[in-house]
Amino acid sequence: MKKSISTFLKQPIKDSINRSANPSVTRASTILFNSMQELVQHEKRIKANKKISYYSYGRYGSSTTIELENILKELEKAYHVFLTGTGFGGVALAIMSLCRPGDEILVSDNVYGPTKEISEELVNEFNINAKFYDPDNFNDLQNKITKKTKMILVENPGSNTFEFQDLSKIVRLAKKKNILTFLDNTWGTPLYLKPLKLGFDLSFTSATKYFSGHSDAMGGSLAVNKKVFKKVMFFYKLSGYRMSADEAYLIIRGLRTLDVRLKKHYENTLVVINFLKKQKKIKEILYPYKPSSKSYKLWKKYYSGANGLFSIVVKSKKKSSVVKFVNSLELFGIGYSWGGFESLALLQDLRDDTKYTKTRRYLRFGKDEHIVRLHIGLEDPNDLVQDLKKSLRHIK
Ligand SMILES: *Cc1c(COP(=O)(O)O)cnc(C)c1O
Repeated sequence: MKKSISTFLKQPIKDSINRSANPSVTRASTILFNSMQELVQHEKRIKANKKISYYSYGRYGSSTTIELENILKELEKAYHVFLTGTGFGGVALAIMSLCRPGDEILVSDNVYGPTKEISEELVNEFNINAKFYDPDNFNDLQNKITKKTKMILVENPGSNTFEFQDLSKIVRLAKKKNILTFLDNTWGTPLYLKPLKLGFDLSFTSATKYFSGHSDAMGGSLAVNKKVFKKVMFFYKLSGYRMSADEAYLIIRGLRTLDVRLKKHYENTLVVINFLKKQKKIKEILYPYKPSSKSYKLWKKYYSGANGLFSIVVKSKKKSSVVKFVNSLELFGIGYSWGGFESLALLQDLRDDTKYTKTRRYLRFGKDEHIVRLHIGLEDPNDLVQDLKKSLRHIK
C-alpha cells in the first residue's frame, strides 16, 4: 500500500524489546560486539553504506538517531541524512565538507546571519572566497559565477526579508557549470518542498524550528544525494558533529505533528495577515499571500504549503516607537528562533553590523522602513490580532 507522508509520520516505530510505540532513547558511547569478526564485518557494512540498525561507536549515533535519519530520508527522498547537534552545524558541515582552498562560493545575500558570517569571515581564513548575490536578480547570480565557483548557497525564502527565488533555474544553471547546490529549506520544511527532488545536492533544515516545534530541542538535518555523500561522510565522522539520542527522540516526537501544526500556523497566519494588510502603518507584508505578487507566484510554483513566519515593514521616522510597539505586545515573546508553539516578535536591523545579522548588500528598504519579524504561534489568532491592534497604536 502506498502511504501518504502524513500516515508515515504517524506510524509507530516498533521497538522489538520494549514494544513501545515510540523508539527507546538509546544513549551510548561503547557498542558491544560478540567477536572481533563481528565488529570488523559491521564496520565493512557501514563503509559500504549498507542499511544498518546501529553504528559501531556512539559518536556516529545510536538506534534513536538512526530512526530519525530513516524518517528524514523518507521525508526528503534523500540518499542519506546527516544529523547535527544544532541547525547551524548542518550548514557548517556542508561548507567544510565540500569547499577547499582556492574555491569560491556564491551565497544569496539574504541567508541566515551565521551562514553569512561563516561565508564572509571564517572560510576566508582558509582561502575560500565568498561572493554574495542579489536574491531578486538572477542575472547577478549568473554574472558572479567563475571557473572557481564550487557551490551556490541558497536560502528560500531568505531570512527576515523572505524573497523567493526561481529554484529550478538556479539548479539548471549550476548543473551546466558543474557547481554544487545547497538549499536552506528551514522555512518550507521537506513536507512542503523537497530540494533534492528539484536537483539540489544538499538540502538543509534546522530541526530546532518546526521539526521539534516546542522550543525545547536543537538539531540540524543535512540531506544529501549520492554525489556528495562520501565527502560529507568523511568530514562528519572526523568533525565530531553529532546529535544526541535525547534530542533525536524529541525531534521524532515533534515530527509526528509537523503536518497538523504547520496547517494551524498557516491558518492563524492568514487571520493575522488579513488584519495587518488593512493597517496604514504597515507598508508591506513579506509573506506569499497576494496572488498577484512575485513571491506568491514563486511560492506556488514550488511549495505545497506555508507556515507562520513572516515580516512586516513598518514606516516610521521614529525607530523608538517601533521598539515600543514590539515591547508592548503581550502575547508575543521577544527572542531568537521560531517554529515553536508560541508567537514571537523581533525588530531586525539589517544594517547594524555590530550584531551577528551582518549587513545586507542588497536591501530595497529605506532608512525609515523597519522590519519586524513575526512568528505566529498556535494561540487563538483573534487574541493575537487584538494584541497587535492595541500595540500598533504606539507607532508614530
Ligand atoms: C535557525 C536557523 C538556522 C540555524 O539553526 P539553529 O538550530 O538555531 O542552529 C539556519 N537557517 C535558518 C534559516 C534558520 O532559521
